[in-house]
Parts: sequence; structure tokens; C-alpha cells
Amino acid sequence: MQVFGLLGNPVEHSLSPPMHEAAYAELGLDARYVTFEPSPDDLAAAVHGADALGVAGLNVTIPFKQDVLSLVEPDDLAARVGAVNTVDFAGDAPTGHNTDAAGVRRSFSHHDVALADRDAVVVGAGGAGRAAAFALADAGASVSVANRTVETAAALAADVGDAASAHGLDALPDLVPDADVLVNATSVGMEADESPVPATALHADLAVLDAVYAPLETRLLRDAADAGATTIDGAWMLLFQGVEAFELWTGLDAPVAAMNAALRERL
Ligand code: NAP
Repeated sequence: MQVFGLLGNPVEHSLSPPMHEAAYAELGLDARYVTFEPSPDDLAAAVHGADALGVAGLNVTIPFKQDVLSLVEPDDLAARVGAVNTVDFAGDAPTGHNTDAAGVRRSFSHHDVALADRDAVVVGAGGAGRAAAFALADAGASVSVANRTVETAAALAADVGDAASAHGLDALPDLVPDADVLVNATSVGMEADESPVPATALHADLAVLDAVYAPLETRLLRDAADAGATTIDGAWMLLFQGVEAFELWTGLDAPVAAMNAALRERL
């Protein structure tokens, strides 16, 4: 039996176990997906211990995504994003990957939204914002990063390079009307029925991905739908980061429909 898992703290409400176990059931794989909740002081021991015990792969979530970077060999994307959310133990040394970026890219491609040569706006510059900005820039988009703390947006834009620029949230009324693609990578919309983007800036030629998945239907997505925009909820990003991890670990095409159904059943 192969063992996969999630390393984080806390992990009890994670949707990754049912999503991955649905994939194993669909394909008849002899595998389990379990959660591990080490204390931060034990992170290195946990990763080395998982490797020694023959764990095949780990997802990594808050608060360990940055700290795991130094415990594995990160691929180019994970190193640039500065965070690892997937560890693969198949080789001589554990490798680290960032499938949140693939989650953004594949959410758009699943909805037939092209990214090459498009103007994208990423609102937020934390973990999700970094993954989104690199995903969009690597796919050929020009990326405007708008963040409450403009210094964090500037640091992200500098890391991304020539394809990115940095702004405060006050630039959104000017940026969004000319954009093709918008990602909300802030937590705004989770706690209260609020949107980080003025509704008047949204338009019918825009595709909007909201990384927030609780609730699924955020104020931003409602406003975007009212404006005639294409809307993509945060469960798609969550799904496709898991799909990408599954495919990386197993080398198989993921059963996307079964994983999506398991996820949405619980949201
Ligand atoms: P994070 O690293 O803590 O970053 C939070 C971001 O939100 C920062 O840019 C922060 O701006 C901004 N922000 C927080 N409160 C704000 C407010 N009141 N007004 C304006 N901006 C505010 O968090 P994260 O890991 O990137 O997660 C961000 C969101 O994405 C969360 O809702 C999370 O659940 C979601 N997420 C979804 C997926 C998925 O698969 N769907 C994956 C990862 C994350 P400052 O820099 O100014 O503080």
C-alpha cells in the first residue's frame, strides 16, 4: 500500500483526504491519504521521518509551506514562488513542488480561458498571490499585482520580473476595466460578504478566479456574474492543485471528475 498525506497545523478540516481518496477508489489504487500535524519544532524530523518510513508523497499547508523549502530539493517554480506545497519522495532525495500555481493555470484552462499575451490582475501578494502571479506570468500574461501593503506587491513583482508591476488596491478601478483576467488571492470575502474589487470595474470580457473557497459563492463572484464575466470559484484551484500533486506522485492522469465530486460534496 502507498501512503500519501498532508503536513500542516491544523489539518483536521482539510478537504485533501476525501479528494485524494476518491481518486484512489476511482482508479482502484492501493493507497491511503492521511493527515499529520507536527509541532513547528518537529518539522524537519517529520519530513525526514516520512521519507524513512516510505511515505510516497506529502502535501504541505499552513504554516509549513515556506519552511519545507530548505528540507527538500525545490524545483525551479517552487524556488521562485518561495513555497512548497507538495513533496515527492520517489527519488534519492525528496523534491519540492508548488502545485498551487498549477491550480491557478489549470483552473483557467479548464474554463477555456487563454492566458498568453493577456492582461492579468492579481489582488493579494501572500502565498496564493505569489503562486498566481508566477503561474500567470509563466503562461505569458502581463501581471499587475495589487496589494493592501504595496511593499509586498513590489517585492513580488520584482521576483516575477519584467512581466509584472506593483500597485496598491486604489489602482484597481483603473487596472480592472482593461484586464482580461482577475485573481482574488486575498482572504477578503471569507469572513464577511465583501469584495476587494469595486463592482463597477468588472466587465463582460473578464475571467475572474476567486481563490477563496469558503464560501464558494463570494461577493466578488456574484458581482462578476452580474457584470457578465466568466466566474471560477476557489474549489477549482483547490481541485487542480490536488490533481497536479496526484499526477506528479503517480504518473497517472487524475480522475478529475471523481475528485471534483468528492470536494464539492463537502463544500
Ligand atoms: P496570506 O499569505 O496570509 O496572504 C493574505 C493576503 O490577503 C495578503 O495579500 C493580504 O494583504 C491580503 N489581505 C488580508 N486581509 C485583507 C484585507 N482586509 N483587505 C485587503 N487585503 C487583505 O494568505 P494566502 O495563503 O495567500 O491565502 C489567501 C486566500 O487564498 C485565503 O482565502 C485562502 O483560503 C485562499 N487560498 C485558496 C487556495 C485554493 O486552492 N483555492 C490556495 C491557497 C489559498 P497584506 O499583504 O496587506 O497583509
